[in-house]
Amino acid sequence: MINNIQQFIAAMPKVELHVHLEGSIRPNTLQKLAKRHPNISSKIPIIDICALRSWSTFKDFAQFGETFITVQNFLRKPEDFELIAYEYGREMFVQNILYSEVILAPFTHTHVLEKGLKLSDILYGLENGRRKAQLDFGVEIRWVFGFDRGLCVKKDNKYNFLPAEKTLAYAIDAKSHGVVGLTVGGNELACPPDLFSSLFRSAKQEGFLSLPHAGENNFKNNSTYVHAAVIEMDADRIGHGIDAIKDSSVLTLLRERRIPLDINLTSNLALQIYSDLSQHPFRRLEDSGLILTVNTDDPALFNTTLNREFELLEEVFEYTRSDIIRIARNSFMVCGATPDLKQILLSKFDKWESDL
Ligand SMILES: [Zn+2]
Repeated sequence: MINNIQQFIAAMPKVELHVHLEGSIRPNTLQKLAKRHPNISSKIPIIDICALRSWSTFKDFAQFGETFITVQNFLRKPEDFELIAYEYGREMFVQNILYSEVILAPFTHTHVLEKGLKLSDILYGLENGRRKAQLDFGVEIRWVFGFDRGLCVKKDNKYNFLPAEKTLAYAIDAKSHGVVGLTVGGNELACPPDLFSSLFRSAKQEGFLSLPHAGENNFKNNSTYVHAAVIEMDADRIGHGIDAIKDSSVLTLLRERRIPLDINLTSNLALQIYSDLSQHPFRRLEDSGLILTVNTDDPALFNTTLNREFELLEEVFEYTRSDIIRIARNSFMVCGATPDLKQILLSKFDKWESDL
């Protein structure tokens, strides 16, 4: 019998469904990347890990976006992608995460930042890192390709769908390299979900999961974006979706269609969506009958871990161990793994639970 809740959570086999690869780069790996690319490293305090940590505290979503793109700019060669994929795999092993769906924004690396990178370069690195992590640590990584919806708005307020269309084309090209889904993130006010309905429906026809971010930013009427993500984008799961709590008809829609929300507690706090986690609707969403999963979003930038996110369920919402087991199991049930792999993952979880 494990008495300590931290030990209990650390020993629990886990699945993570919402984590951005670039946001998972820990400060010591970022230092390695900065040494590889000294000409661009002057923008961040790479010498001092503590300074690097405080560099990544955010006053708002826009500032977070700037930090994120600075980190993305350090990824310039296939071996950089290999390093961060492998290091993420090591982190999975350390935390007993068996399977993870990891978001990456390839269009930013091929088109937004001038690096001369092609999709094939990125895939070469990702695949090497993923395979080595599988061999060394026994972890399963799958990719979700995403784009920033802000890139789809031009200065004259007209829309440019190239980032969205290119990202889907990349996902199709990379299907045999472990891509299981498509997402869109960023500021929803500028670019509402219905603009991408045909793109996400095409993605589903290609066999990908529709996994949009929606209802994250606590804007007025934001629950309508969650509704649109379900109706227009045929979402299989929703990234965040917390603003559903504002509208009982949206809660009903999510409950009846059994569409899970991928929740990221510390992310919501770090991006000032709530001033205190006691305001977070996690328990109310679950009490409304929704399927919730627990995730980190950008663990390095928000200085958290998946284990820590589960600990918060006990600390903030007074969840018991059996509650935590129920929530953790959700991720195994709703992930995009093939039925065979899902069965293997679930049997490991069940064995751990039966041995308690
Ligand atoms: Zn996210």
